[in-house]
Amino acid sequence: MKLSRVILPLLLTTSVLLTIAAFVPQALPSQSLTSVLQRQKAPRTLLGAATAGEGTPQPPKEVTLLKDLRNLRDLKVVDMHQHFGSFEDMGELGKKHLTEEIPVLPDFLKKFLLKTSSKFTAAPYGSFLGMKQQNGFARIDVGVMLSVYAPKTWGIASQESLIKHLEDPRNIRDGHPQFVGFSGVNMTDWDNSKEIAIANLSKTLEHPLVVGIKLAFIHNNFALDDRRYDPIYQTAAKYGVPVYHHIGSTPLQKLSDKTEAEREKFRRTYLVEFLEPAIQRYQNVTFILGHMGFDFNDEGDDRLPEVIEMAERYPNVLLEISAFGSCKFDQCGSYLDWVFQKVKQKGVLDRVVYGSDMSGLPLVYALYKRGVIKSMKRVNYTVAEAEQVMSKNLIRHFKIDPLKPFPHKET
Ligand SMILES: [Zn+2]
Repeated sequence: MKLSRVILPLLLTTSVLLTIAAFVPQALPSQSLTSVLQRQKAPRTLLGAATAGEGTPQPPKEVTLLKDLRNLRDLKVVDMHQHFGSFEDMGELGKKHLTEEIPVLPDFLKKFLLKTSSKFTAAPYGSFLGMKQQNGFARIDVGVMLSVYAPKTWGIASQESLIKHLEDPRNIRDGHPQFVGFSGVNMTDWDNSKEIAIANLSKTLEHPLVVGIKLAFIHNNFALDDRRYDPIYQTAAKYGVPVYHHIGSTPLQKLSDKTEAEREKFRRTYLVEFLEPAIQRYQNVTFILGHMGFDFNDEGDDRLPEVIEMAERYPNVLLEISAFGSCKFDQCGSYLDWVFQKVKQKGVLDRVVYGSDMSGLPLVYALYKRGVIKSMKRVNYTVAEAEQVMSKNLIRHFKIDPLKPFPHKET
């Protein structure tokens, strides 16, 4: 296989370069860091204090702090946010975004590399750098695989392929599932085909390893306050599963690329205030607020404090920390430090759940997890608090406990 001798090193080199690019600190305009704090009327030093570990309440002496733990082997981790799929299945905006992320190379070569590398890194059981391999390397006990319908942006990872991956014999190791799943919902032509979509969703949710619903309103430009989508929440209530919403902007569609009229409409797809009525209406449904309202484009739409307030107001709200803790967006954890302190102050630490959203590149699961652990250490989290964030808060809302052997015997 001469070809593979050429392709594999090329692939690995590019993948490593991409990973480095994703994690190298990039200076954010300082206003972006302060905007959150200013709106809280918190002094800017709060961030510094968090990083230095000063001003953080010290737990009683007999409690083990995460930073004092010798090894983290026993810390159970469930990653709420892992994508599978292939470069070919992505939408035009997703392909464009990823192609632009790679510097220098000509477009045809970038596309070739992305296509080839996705066959490894975005495949659940791909060789060398597959998702399962990467989870093993990162010591992630269970990955939550997401089926997604976002044809114009990140593309389609269908419900059928999700089930296929979950049922793969390689998913069970020592009686434990390595992956559980969240079902996407095909919302194309909703008014005419919602019955079919809800029937498919229900069928998918019957599967014992499908434990939630993943929605992609921002990626499809659906308004969060549009009541036509209520049947989805009703289905979630019927099956007793949580619903995941992306809350916060997306690097794929910037406000600056839209007209004034389009901006107003677009904001309804990701700002948390537009979801609040549904959270109120469906108090028997758990809403996972993905990315916690973080503004990835730094266009003045940060909602981290408001999202935390939402958890204070509604017991059916979970806060998911994925993506914004990476160096690319977060000066390597400053926002996370602030979040971890704030949720404790506000008494909603039991709602914070771990997710990475870091699929597609080698080592990224491990790197993201490392950043989160470091942040929790900086703000003096105890081992018990870290356990809540890394797995316990989330699996409490699942119909099965994926950390226990599967299939589960009813007691
Ligand atoms: Zn995602």
